[in-house]
Amino acid sequence: MTGPTVALAGVTKAYGRQRAIAGIDLTVMPGERVALVGHNGAGKSTLMKLILGLIRPSEGRVELLGADPAGRAAGAARMAVGFLPENIAFSPSITGAELLAFYARLKRQPVSRNAALLERVGIAEAATRRVGTYSKGMRQRLGLAQALIGRPRVLLLDEPTTGLDPALRQSFYEILDALAADGASVLLASHALAELESRVDRVVVLNRGAKVADGTLATLRRFSPVSARIRLTLADPTDAAPPAIPGSVLAWTRIGGPVWETSCPDADKLALVRRLLAAPLELADIDVITPTLDEIYAGFLRHEAAV
Ligand code: ATP
Repeated sequence: MTGPTVALAGVTKAYGRQRAIAGIDLTVMPGERVALVGHNGAGKSTLMKLILGLIRPSEGRVELLGADPAGRAAGAARMAVGFLPENIAFSPSITGAELLAFYARLKRQPVSRNAALLERVGIAEAATRRVGTYSKGMRQRLGLAQALIGRPRVLLLDEPTTGLDPALRQSFYEILDALAADGASVLLASHALAELESRVDRVVVLNRGAKVADGTLATLRRFSPVSARIRLTLADPTDAAPPAIPGSVLAWTRIGGPVWETSCPDADKLALVRRLLAAPLELADIDVITPTLDEIYAGFLRHEAAV
């Protein structure tokens, strides 16, 4: 399939007068890793439920692998989706292998493939242990194994790395990378923006049910309302005057000693650095500080509140 795996056009989901999702357009291609970010109640889980076909839109159209996921003809599409809900809880008294066998039967998949799945998520040695004895990280990996049954073409993961230590998070993302490289679309809802850096191809920012930004991290940076900062260290540590750039009026903030900072839109930073390097200044150092993903996200929300 070369078209989108997930496509939403003008989708609104209203509960009474409240719109949990408001007029969203979204397409996800095979092999794409997309993060859905937003504050509590922004609409991330509702969006996932719409894609899963658990709820129907009040307005607009949702397509999953070319079918309406809530429609009669969506059986095959639903079988090709893996879902890891937020805070998934398993019965503590059954073993990992038993649990996976149960889900494999539900999905009409051969139980014989489960051993390889447990291996893939790194809990093969605990397969015959009761889930009640698993650590949080092991339960989360078991949840991922459950979502991977049947080699899904679309994976929906709701806050999948909450509570995982950095090493486990790393291996979690490596598994997702391999799945995407294999052609699966991965959609993950997250609050942990900083850890998404270099982990996803696109970030979709939701605010009160509406999409306020959608793009690669590079695009988001470029259009971010948050400025980049440029920090200069003057060569003469006794120099107390701000850097003087002929022909330009820049607002400088003294960080300490001969270190000064100014800001500019991300798109202009290269031109400014060139001007600074060409200026008659004795420089000891120059740093370009690009906004972090958290700052960009906060900037989009502030910007949205202000317009
Ligand atoms: P969180 O990060 O807290 O999980 P979220 O981004 O997943 O939040 P949703 O669970 O999608 O947010 O909720 C979006 C909004 O829709 C919230 O204001 C929520 O109260 C409302 N909402 C969700 N489901 C229902 C429902 N079944 N009935 C009424 N309101 C609902």
